[in-house]
Amino acid sequence: MKVGVLSLQGAVKEHLEMIKRCGFEGIKIKTVGDLEKVDRLIIPGGESTAIAKLAKIYGLDREIIKRGKEGMPIFGTCAGMILLANKVIGNEQIRFNLIDIVVERNAFGRQVDSFEVDLKIEDFSEKPFKAVFIRAPYIKKAGREVRVLAEFKGKIVMARQKNILVSSFHPELTDDLRVHKYFLSENY
Ligand code: GLN
Repeated sequence: MKVGVLSLQGAVKEHLEMIKRCGFEGIKIKTVGDLEKVDRLIIPGGESTAIAKLAKIYGLDREIIKRGKEGMPIFGTCAGMILLANKVIGNEQIRFNLIDIVVERNAFGRQVDSFEVDLKIEDFSEKPFKAVFIRAPYIKKAGREVRVLAEFKGKIVMARQKNILVSSFHPELTDDLRVHKYFLSENY
């Protein structure tokens, strides 16, 4: 299986490293042609407005939406989650519309730049996941079809709707492979 990482801006190489550690081939996605070669896609954290603009310039936005609708598994972390959402509060431009969530950007406050917490993730073993949040968004509202996988302080920070997985935090910045293994598993 080949796994693409959208490589326009943001934390690309950390995801590639995690993919490799999970035993799969990671490929940088910069063009529509690159996207055709992969079976799954990760949209990394970074600056969602910048990634959205570049994706549009390269025509990748339309292709990602198309593949996502066809059922290709896509995992968005942080800025990636913002891009995949149906609605982003205060921003009409960013929207791939692939998961029925309303997202609030920088939702933990601008002062709280980054922090780490022990998170309980549904379906994962009892051992908490060390989640790293960086100017993170959270899910303000999730539709009926969306399964909530983790919450922090009553706010949804990880969710899934069919083939689309999103997290507010950065699993690629830890040593814990569980989130990537979950997304890359055969029966995901
Ligand atoms: N705050 C960023 C945004 O709105 C997301 C931060 C991140 O991806 N670490 O795009």
